[in-house]
Amino acid sequence: MAAPSFVHCPTCNKLIPWTEEYPDRPFCSERCKLIDLGEWASENYRIKENSPEKPFEQTQPIDKE
Ligand SMILES: [Zn+2]
Repeated sequence: MAAPSFVHCPTCNKLIPWTEEYPDRPFCSERCKLIDLGEWASENYRIKENSPEKPFEQTQPIDKE
């Protein structure tokens, strides 16, 4: 079995493993998810047209030789 990768909760920056144990990942909890969604919603209200949307990306190691 592969070891789970870890992600930081975008809201509280807690490090959590990417497993079924965290159904709200990349958030550590439903609460953090709701907080983040709320912030997104209010930001979308403010900058409606001028922000190019970036697809959500997982943090990946860039250095590779
Ligand atoms: Zn969190």
